[in-house]
Amino acid sequence: MKAQVRNINSRVNPEEQVHISYSQLSTYLLCPMKYAHSYVYGTAWEQKPVALIFGQAIHRAVEQYYLYRKDTDDTIPIGHLIDFFRQSLDHGFKDNEVPISFKKGETANHLQSQGTELLKLFHAEVIPQQIIEVEKSFSVPIPDLTGMYKELPVRLVGRLDLIEADTDGTYMIVELKTAAQRYNALRIETDLQSTVYSYAMSQMNHATSENSCLIRYDVLLKTKEPAFEHYFVTRSERDHNRLIELLNQVLAAIEHRIFYRQTGWACADCQFRKICLG
Ligand code: SF4
Repeated sequence: MKAQVRNINSRVNPEEQVHISYSQLSTYLLCPMKYAHSYVYGTAWEQKPVALIFGQAIHRAVEQYYLYRKDTDDTIPIGHLIDFFRQSLDHGFKDNEVPISFKKGETANHLQSQGTELLKLFHAEVIPQQIIEVEKSFSVPIPDLTGMYKELPVRLVGRLDLIEADTDGTYMIVELKTAAQRYNALRIETDLQSTVYSYAMSQMNHATSENSCLIRYDVLLKTKEPAFEHYFVTRSERDHNRLIELLNQVLAAIEHRIFYRQTGWACADCQFRKICLG
């Protein structure tokens, strides 16, 4: 597998050659052709969804909140947080080589007001515990299920928004999301990102228990009445094993260049729609 995986990704940044992230995995599962355009063919984006720019600006502002807290043990003033968000949003609007796609009724001003309200809510309601790490990178091995090698030549990589510890020193991953709808039980039960994070933490020996790490999603809801909700997710060793199986299967499919079109709802705001569907 080693040589072929490297060959597949030869048109991508060398840093991309020997790893897979949650984002890459979920893109492949959503649509293998989208994965190929994104990570193999290097196809230019046709448009950028505004939700991506908005989410990044909120994410950067919240990151500032936690970095300030970690450095000073104090709370960043809300005005600074909002200024930071607005600058990030402006930068996201200006620094684009491709057109930005807005949904019906969305405008830059509307998103700026919405983000400001969400951050006020976050600032008022968040109760941080001991901050261990902000934006912690990881790179962990993936067992080779073919039995040829102990590990695949591809590592699982990613970045954790925040690692907190409670008063007993128990670690928990905190991931901030913006969402249009509340999470339901099925979404929590089948959420793959938390399985990836739990597996990574267990591999780094930072898990909450021996083989699993608690994950808390802090979700800023873009509902008519903004809300800030928290969802707790746990994963077991069985979930980790299923993830390893999935990674082995997806990497084997990539190695064999299985890049078919998975047409469906994801085509609506796909960055490669014109080149893919003509
Ligand atoms: S347009 Fe649809 S089928 Fe084509 S790459 Fe995008 S999501 Fe996949």
